[in-house]
Amino acid sequence: MAESKRDYYQILEVPRNATKEEIRAAYRRLARRYHPDVSKEPDAEARFKEINEAYQVLNNDELRARYDRYGHAGLEQTDLSGFGGFGFGFEDIFSDLFGFGGRASRPGPVRGSDLRYDLEITFEEAVFGCSKEIQIARQETCPECQGTGAEPGTSPIRCPECHGTGQIRRAQQSIFGTFVNVTTCPRCRGTGEIITTPCSTCHGTGRAEQIRRLVVDVPAGVDDGMRLRLSGEGESGLYGGPPGNLYVMLHVKPHPFFQRREDDILLSVNINIAQAALGDEIRVPTLDGEEKLTIAAGTQPGTVVRLKGRGVPRLHRNGRGDQIVILNVSIPTNLDAHQKALLAELGKTLGREVVPQPGRSFIERLKEVFGL
Ligand SMILES: [Zn+2]
Ligand SMILES: [Zn+2]
Repeated sequence: MAESKRDYYQILEVPRNATKEEIRAAYRRLARRYHPDVSKEPDAEARFKEINEAYQVLNNDELRARYDRYGHAGLEQTDLSGFGGFGFGFEDIFSDLFGFGGRASRPGPVRGSDLRYDLEITFEEAVFGCSKEIQIARQETCPECQGTGAEPGTSPIRCPECHGTGQIRRAQQSIFGTFVNVTTCPRCRGTGEIITTPCSTCHGTGRAEQIRRLVVDVPAGVDDGMRLRLSGEGESGLYGGPPGNLYVMLHVKPHPFFQRREDDILLSVNINIAQAALGDEIRVPTLDGEEKLTIAAGTQPGTVVRLKGRGVPRLHRNGRGDQIVILNVSIPTNLDAHQKALLAELGKTLGREVVPQPGRSFIERLKEVFGL
């Protein structure tokens, strides 16, 4: 049975090496011709199903590759039943083809779709801002026909079916009397106009896909999960509607040791027990390079030191957050004999009493400082 099916390339009237664009264009042309709602062809419904099935296979890289190798037999395990049927996105196909809903009445201006672009940036780029060039593909008003869908030099004619009103009125008799049934004109789909010569660039859709390079200015101080709006950089509108927006979703790569908490930067550093007890001067990394940090004598584990103004620039405002340095006191684990002796000597002088501590614990103090 599968072998009696027609070749998909023949159905779409494209060569076997057709590009995706050619396949898509052929599909649009044929689907418009054989759409059962508008077609006058006697076998429109069967042809329309066939066209849809062929398109769904050839438009899918994996299915197309299998079909190219094994023919219809290669797709026997694939359920294609949904493809040709009318349950499958019937309205979607229609709106895709004609740019508006199949059941819509005379279409007014339609705003273009918003687009989303996911942009990954580094921690530093988020902190200090950056400029990124991105490439997007979007539907724009066809430059050839200015969005009318009619081949330049031709213009749409008034629909002879509805005389340009976009509606069909039919008087109907019922047991309650006569009433007028108003429906959208099936010939022009409510536009009141018929394009006799579709634009060869956009195949009558009025829009064409364009690849655009855009520069995204990422302001200093943005954070992971924020989105930037580029007004009017989405897809073109239809029937004079405004364009949509482009939303750039920001994904910030984590830093190996800096952590961010709003506009503050957290950094944990380890110091040894001698540095903690006697005090020291150390250098710590900041977003602006290394910075000197004085450790006071008698520094306790978990002590927090703030480096004012070394945090993240406040988004759209002046000033910067702080860098918060958490001092961990690391207890040595691999002491040699000499070090052990020194510590033991010290230990004898420190006493062995256990003194219960009143007040807040280390964890509570952390919670207080960081609002964790
Ligand atoms: Zn065009
Ligand atoms: Zn009409």
